[in-house]
This record gives sequence, C-alpha cells and structure tokens, in this order.
Amino acid sequence: MIRIPCPHCDARNSTEFRHVGEAAARPDPSTATPERWRAYLYERANPAGWTSETWFHTMGCRRYITVERHTVTNEIRSARPAGGTRAEPAAALSARGDAGSPDAGGQA
Ligand SMILES: [Zn+2]
Repeated sequence: MIRIPCPHCDARNSTEFRHVGEAAARPDPSTATPERWRAYLYERANPAGWTSETWFHTMGCRRYITVERHTVTNEIRSARPAGGTRAEPAAALSARGDAGSPDAGGQA
C-alpha cells in the first residue's frame, strides 16, 4: 500500500488515485517538431529511483497532483498541486476503468 499525501485532502491510500504517469512539460505546439511530440507522448525515463509523477485524486478532490516517488521503495518525499486544477471528465475515467495505480496491478 502506498500512502499519498494529497496537498488538498491529506494522506490517502493510493487506491483512491489514478496514476497518470511521469510528469513532463508539454512542448509548445507551434514550435515542436514531430520527433519532440513523439518523445512527449511515448518516451518515458522509467528510472529505478526518484521520479516526478502526476496522479489524479479520483475518489477525493478530483485534482491532479505532482508526486516525487522512489520507484523501488515507493517512498514519497513531496506532493504538490499540479499546474492546473481541472477535473478529469467522468466519461474518460469510466472508459478506462480505474486500474491505473502502480500497486493495483496495471497501468492505463
Ligand atoms: Zn485530494
């Protein structure tokens, strides 16, 4: 079990969240090359160590947060609100199910 310290709701079980993936800055659409878009969409560092990830608090505040997590030990050293506070559309969540957290056995 991973306890994620949501900056809006306090520490909660990771089953309340959906793991979105590694946090990456979106390239500028007006200047990004196709190679840069491909890298943004598909390439992940997947380190065995500290990484910055985006999580969505599905069963709580319904906000995106950025979490620094050690991928080997699951230790979390920080959590902060992600850039925006937009809610993920309910239709997108139900279409995927809610099997996105790493300790739930799969990723979206
Ligand atoms: Zn929350």
